[in-house]
Amino acid sequence: MNPVIALVGRPNVGKSTLFNRLTRTRDALVADLAGLTRDRKFGAGKVGERDYIVVDTGGISGMEQGLDAKMAEQSFQAMDEADIVLFLVDARAGLTSADKMIAQHLRATEKKTYVVVNKIDGLNPDVATSEFYELGLGELQTIAATHNRGINVLMDHVLNEL
Ligand code: GDP
Ligand code: MG
Repeated sequence: MNPVIALVGRPNVGKSTLFNRLTRTRDALVADLAGLTRDRKFGAGKVGERDYIVVDTGGISGMEQGLDAKMAEQSFQAMDEADIVLFLVDARAGLTSADKMIAQHLRATEKKTYVVVNKIDGLNPDVATSEFYELGLGELQTIAATHNRGINVLMDHVLNEL
């Protein structure tokens, strides 16, 4: 069975951009509008000989109502069904209460989780990542999804630790 990798995080952190990179398609919706991807979206990807399934999710804002609640529910379901969770946070926006809420859920599930600090382009990586250690999920990976930076290193790491 190919491992299932779920991309989770609050809206606008770059999940769909990373999904597109990982599946080499333009399939997932990428937009400036927060939370455009309402449903889970599945794609297939490959690094070297390693195949994987990647799941894009709509995002969790932490104050869900109506459609947002459905979106968050889908995200939590995707986390629970995945072998690996890539928990994306936004280096430009910094640590938010929604990030902390998601981290709390992930710490409780004991799911194999990587905190992926995205949008590192133009920033000092040490400075940009330091506050995210507070999430209590261990080592951080830094990427710039729009610049295709850090993604191969991230995926080597993720797939080799399976
Ligand atoms: P999602 O809501 O988590 O799926 O986020 P999207 O993938 O739709 O991206 C939200 C916005 O962040 C878009 O305007 C992206 O172009 C932008 N974005 C994504 N990754 C990066 C990155 O590495 N650097 C910068 N500067 N912007 C990014
Ligand atoms: Mg999206």
